[in-house]
Amino acid sequence: MEKVILIKYGELTTKKGNRNFFVHTLTENIKTKLKNYPIVIKKDLSRMTITFDEENLTSILEKINEVFGIHAYHVAYKVPSILEDMQSEMLTMLKNEEFTTFKIEVKRSDKMFPMDSMELSRYLGGVVLKNLKGKKVDVHHPEVLFQVELCKDYTYLYTNSIKGLGGYPVGTQPKSLAMLSGGIDSPVAIYLALKRGIKVDAVYFEAIPHTSLEAREKVITLTRKLAKYKNKITLYVVPFTEIQEAIYQKGNSEYCITIMRRMMYRIMDRLCKKHKAMAIINGESIGQVASQTLNSMAVINEVTNMPVIRPVACLDKLEIIDIAKKIDTYETSILPYEDCCTVFVPKHPVINPVLDECLKNEEKFDYEAMIEKAIENILVFPITIEDKSKYENLL
Ligand code: ATP
Ligand code: MG
Repeated sequence: MEKVILIKYGELTTKKGNRNFFVHTLTENIKTKLKNYPIVIKKDLSRMTITFDEENLTSILEKINEVFGIHAYHVAYKVPSILEDMQSEMLTMLKNEEFTTFKIEVKRSDKMFPMDSMELSRYLGGVVLKNLKGKKVDVHHPEVLFQVELCKDYTYLYTNSIKGLGGYPVGTQPKSLAMLSGGIDSPVAIYLALKRGIKVDAVYFEAIPHTSLEAREKVITLTRKLAKYKNKITLYVVPFTEIQEAIYQKGNSEYCITIMRRMMYRIMDRLCKKHKAMAIINGESIGQVASQTLNSMAVINEVTNMPVIRPVACLDKLEIIDIAKKIDTYETSILPYEDCCTVFVPKHPVINPVLDECLKNEEKFDYEAMIEKAIENILVFPITIEDKSKYENLL
């Protein structure tokens, strides 16, 4: 008898053609996550087991809860697929549980086993009733659901089920670049994109001295919190001051935000091409501010052909905040450091911008050269949860 963590893939199993790739990616992600523990992983196309040292169980389970692509997991006992072994282990397990009503559920993938699922669950139910006093079967609302997964050589027995994070393993979709500000929305957008399996790296536009180094540190902290879900996130910090000052000196003030966002999108477009990223991700939410009306989005989006994924586009602010709290980015996001967007907000930003007006404003300065220069001077921070950089201490 061996105790294992039994992992179910969930959504993966619906992706028949790609199943191998999905299971392989998930395995690699779990291995990386658990690299500090002596474990053994075994997998097939429908389940995975992890053998572990008992003293590490709690911390291993916590880490598994941070991996996308897992539908559910169980702490299970693995016994040979022999009736006597199953029933004696079942009795040992149930003796330690306090309950009156129970149900036995059998899933049988070994069709050669002499009993079918119904027969086996009835048989094992009979063993419980005969050997343990005062127990009753309740198929609708049992206090203990005893599950039996019968495979060819081994059978897994468990009474617990822990819900996994769901989604797809990170890395099953190609790399994309996300616009990460210090606000509430963009970390949530990145979390949701990671959940779809996208390999997200992050880009932060900063306008020092109008924005502070603390604002950058806040973005680094947010990146580190998101790195829980992807081993390493590279954060690109774009020096945006020159472009932003030019926009505000030369441009029509009500168009400043629209043009600033077109400049950000232009830089994102180039960075995606440079780093072979397939899409731009951001935290825009329809109607949240003037630059996020559908009309504004269309005019801003006009500068790029890259797909722009907006995971929180249709969520209410309160729904976004709920997720931010769940993933522990909220408290950092509400720290009061200025973002380059908030520093330069005009009194009356245009809600329905016109493309021609943007083009007219943009003709007034040589933004191409400034964009090139900004890209050349990008700072790169490879961020993992473990690396306790000097930035952490400042917050
Ligand atoms: P909030 O939660 O306060 O709305 P926000 O980060 O969503 O903050 P918005 O002004 O709504 O800020 O910007 C919309 C999106 O544009 C952000 O979600 C983010 O993806 C991107 N963005 C804004 N400012 C920056 C920045 N300085 N660097 C990188 N991306 C930015
Ligand atoms: Mg927002």
